[in-house]
Amino acid sequence: MINLATLNKLTYGLYIVTSVDQGRCNGFTADAVFQVSANPPTIGICIKKDNLTHDFVAKAQVFAVSILADTAPAELIRHWGLKSGRQEDKCVNTEYKTGITGCHLITKDTLGAIECRVVNVFDAGSHTIFLGEVVSAESFSDGEPLTYAQYRKKIKPALKQTDKKGDAMKKYRCVVCDYIYDPALGDPDSGIAPGTPFEKIPDTWVCPICQVDKSNFELLD
Ligand code: FE
Repeated sequence: MINLATLNKLTYGLYIVTSVDQGRCNGFTADAVFQVSANPPTIGICIKKDNLTHDFVAKAQVFAVSILADTAPAELIRHWGLKSGRQEDKCVNTEYKTGITGCHLITKDTLGAIECRVVNVFDAGSHTIFLGEVVSAESFSDGEPLTYAQYRKKIKPALKQTDKKGDAMKKYRCVVCDYIYDPALGDPDSGIAPGTPFEKIPDTWVCPICQVDKSNFELLD
């Protein structure tokens, strides 16, 4: 048996990963960031292949990881995590400094930033794993880092609360299998009529693909 919801019990931090393409910055909030080696100091990141930052890292072969503080506001997470760089320049109106790789290092609501040059790339199905040797690391402030568990408990509910206002027909994505619930289509096979907003779906409903419950869905912007 494979109960994919069990994977949500793994623990992570939360970061803003940025890269550059011909001077243009893009980035996203990531949880899959980890140190893989001490000598040379090496960081691994996983990026979904259809993410714009994926293309930037693949091309530029550099990335930066800004470490979010546990005091980071929900709006910052929304800005980097729920918008696409294909629609807008996410680096506008953010406080940053440019690192030695050209990547933006986010300096507000973060504890520090690490810059890496890619030294290895692994295909991992839906995602690519980039290993990067650390070329700079800088602390901005003391404090506690934000964890993914804190994000799920505190920030995600706050985002959902504000999203309820006027966003009844927005799509939601299953974080486990990437299935997208489209209110216009509903889920007729499970008795959810077309035109049913995600919020109106009974809590007993589960993802038609991987069977996890509604708490595993996030707003698709
Ligand atoms: Fe699913």
